[in-house]
Amino acid sequence: MTIQKNLVSIFYDTLKPEVAKPRKPDTYNVKPSEAGTKCMRKLYYGTFKVPKDFDVPQNVKKMGKMGDGLGTILSNAFRNQGILIDYINEDGSIPVNFGALNQEFPIKSPELGIKSGFIDGVFIMNDELWLGEYKSCTDKAFPKLKAPKPEHLIQAVIYLFVFNKLLKEGAYKHIPELEKFTEAKGMRWLYVDRNNMINFEMKEYVYTVEQAKPVFVQIVEKLGVLKTYTDSKTLPPKTPEWCASCPWRAKCSQNYNIN
Ligand code: SF4
Repeated sequence: MTIQKNLVSIFYDTLKPEVAKPRKPDTYNVKPSEAGTKCMRKLYYGTFKVPKDFDVPQNVKKMGKMGDGLGTILSNAFRNQGILIDYINEDGSIPVNFGALNQEFPIKSPELGIKSGFIDGVFIMNDELWLGEYKSCTDKAFPKLKAPKPEHLIQAVIYLFVFNKLLKEGAYKHIPELEKFTEAKGMRWLYVDRNNMINFEMKEYVYTVEQAKPVFVQIVEKLGVLKTYTDSKTLPPKTPEWCASCPWRAKCSQNYNIN
């Protein structure tokens, strides 16, 4: 008998836990969005794609979908204003990532162990090239926000320096709008109060390349330390950080290490 589905049940299907795939031995990928964690062990597990012990709570997955929708709204607004640059493949086709068309600029950095990342926005503003990240936070956190959150700072600074390196190397030479630029001037974070979606407020923070440089030096040092652990497959010490919500907390308590 075929089970009748409706749109609500089909939506909830998209929030179901992914079937954990066995970890491939060569798996190694530093995710810029995870590089800001204070816990080296958590970064180690994430970089080696160790299967998680716990699924992401459903409310957090729903928040993620709202965040994706918000990103689309913001990108459409900036595209309509003529400041957002869309990425295309060298053959002129629109890239497909995660099963959907995606015109965010891709980055990768073998030197930092990053296989892939995507920048929310590449903008030309007042004849200057800028990168942007869209972020949302709760109505409790929003009024207190005075600067990019540390994990968002690290993620975006990685994007900025890797993008500028790729731009210099010619990785984006097929994007005509970027022809005259040799580097992005800096990074912009656009925060939205997600609990007030009907009448949301926004805050913007800006770092130039010069301001971001000391942060990038620290990131390179941190990823160098991570590499000493991953090269020797030595489990880093625990550095408790939001352990109650860490997806590897069961393995961590057993001091699990990869083979
Ligand atoms: S449970 Fe805590 S100490 Fe262990 S990996 Fe996660 S954050 Fe780090």
